[in-house]
Amino acid sequence: MSPQELIRTRFAPSPSGHLHVGGARTAMFCLAFAKRYGSDHGQMLLRIEDTDQRRSSDAASMAFLEDLEWLGISWDEGPKFGDSGGGDTGPYFQSKRLSIYEEHLNGLLERGQAYRAFETAEQLNEKRAEARAAKQPYRYDRAALELSEKQVSDLLAAGTPYVVRFKVPDEAITVHDEVLGEVRTEARQLDDFIIWKADGFPTYHLAVVIDDALMGVTHVIRGQEHLNNTPKHVVLQDALGFDRPIYAHLSLIMNPDGSKMSKRDQDKALRRAVKEAGLEESPSGASGPVIEAASWSAWLARKDAQLQPDETERLAQELGVQLPEINVNDFRRAGYLPEVLLNYLALLGWSPGGDLEQFDMAFLIENFDLKRVVKSPARFDRDKLLAFNLDAIQAMSSSQFESRLRTYCEAEAPLFIEQLTDLQFKQVAASNQERSKTLRDPVDACQFLVLPTESIKIQDSKSVRRAMAGGPPTGADHLRQLKSQLADLDLWDVATLEGVVEAYAQEHADGKLGKVAQPLRVAVTGTTVSPPIYDTLVMLGQTGTIARIEQCLDQTGSHAK
Ligand code: GLU
Repeated sequence: MSPQELIRTRFAPSPSGHLHVGGARTAMFCLAFAKRYGSDHGQMLLRIEDTDQRRSSDAASMAFLEDLEWLGISWDEGPKFGDSGGGDTGPYFQSKRLSIYEEHLNGLLERGQAYRAFETAEQLNEKRAEARAAKQPYRYDRAALELSEKQVSDLLAAGTPYVVRFKVPDEAITVHDEVLGEVRTEARQLDDFIIWKADGFPTYHLAVVIDDALMGVTHVIRGQEHLNNTPKHVVLQDALGFDRPIYAHLSLIMNPDGSKMSKRDQDKALRRAVKEAGLEESPSGASGPVIEAASWSAWLARKDAQLQPDETERLAQELGVQLPEINVNDFRRAGYLPEVLLNYLALLGWSPGGDLEQFDMAFLIENFDLKRVVKSPARFDRDKLLAFNLDAIQAMSSSQFESRLRTYCEAEAPLFIEQLTDLQFKQVAASNQERSKTLRDPVDACQFLVLPTESIKIQDSKSVRRAMAGGPPTGADHLRQLKSQLADLDLWDVATLEGVVEAYAQEHADGKLGKVAQPLRVAVTGTTVSPPIYDTLVMLGQTGTIARIEQCLDQTGSHAK
């Protein structure tokens, strides 16, 4: 390819909410491939494929734009969003290009390369059933081609619904795929597929072919789920007199067990938890059942039914189930770093060669090559992704970590921004970085800081009981004695607290710090897990600590004495 030539790739999602990780990888490869040639020679387009009327383009279904932006995947041409978009080959929403499609459709009809067909769904189903009974593959029988001109015009005049079918040439089709090599489709394997639907919209096949051509797309990089569509696109390109773009189909992304990675995995995780807990009715939250009775029973009645996304989330939260992440947004909320997710996704289908595994987008752009894209399905290994995320967090300077955590909290944990002082926030970042695999970890570990004292409930667990009982003296006895010492302190920092608590433990707990630190932890967080104890107390402050010790002594009154 000469360096002067313009490379144009496109990412063409259908609006359906958040972006699946497979889509994110496609978009990333489209960008990397184009930019490999330098910004002057390579461009990526974003086109919204919204001609299926069930897929509307309202804000919720366009959430994938935010996911792309979060990942740092920008587009040169397409809908304007943040710093991306613009261009003069639009409109970039297919629903706004109907007149363009109609013009090309009319050309095909006039040249006899396409024809109207008036069969009803029932008639076609009958023909399908006949083929099945005769153990023959079903192909449309071209009955509509037998209609006379007069019959067609009468049917049209009577307002009979129709579709338009493309008259597929009777010859084998070979497509060269940059990843898969030669892909051959035998003559008669394709039937006369529909290019225009009865609802007055083009099918995906017609729209995609026209758009790719008119938008000057040179390389179509997309998921292997579209491989079967490619021969249809190629015959349409030939009929419309368009050049064929270069194709590259990317392998699917699977779960480690080889199943498809889809939202259904989240549903399965919930069903397992419901079964284990033996729940027959929806659990109840503060304001009634978490799932309304009718949806609950409909969901349980059918294994293939799925809860709405907000219901899924509420139920998972109530049951304490960690849902497997599927969409980019799931990973974002779980505290993964966008550059780490991109790095990991790049490895699911491509490798730079050698042992190198951790790299950034700039490296990918410099080195990306379709020749190193693998053919076989890739398995998504969450542990490996988590290990990459941990490495990236550990490699950050403390101020970088703090600023990333702040950005995360602004979106996902606003209480940490609203309620903590700057100093407290810094302390949260500093005391958690070393232990954090995700940006969510500090938020989980420090919930106690943003909850009002009254909401700290002492957990009913073995470890809490062990911390509070024992002795004599019991954990509660230690708390009672330490409280007055802590209340008298004039300085509230790690060194002072360390001095006081350790001296206390020497004197009253045979030097066993845990005997004292664990009850303190229970008092201030309700649990036995928190960041290092002195950090925890410093973050909470003196007044908060004393108030929580008092509350804990009240709550555990029965076994405190
Ligand atoms: N709109 C299609 C989808 O969301 C992609 C079409 C293509 O890349 O050709 O899967």
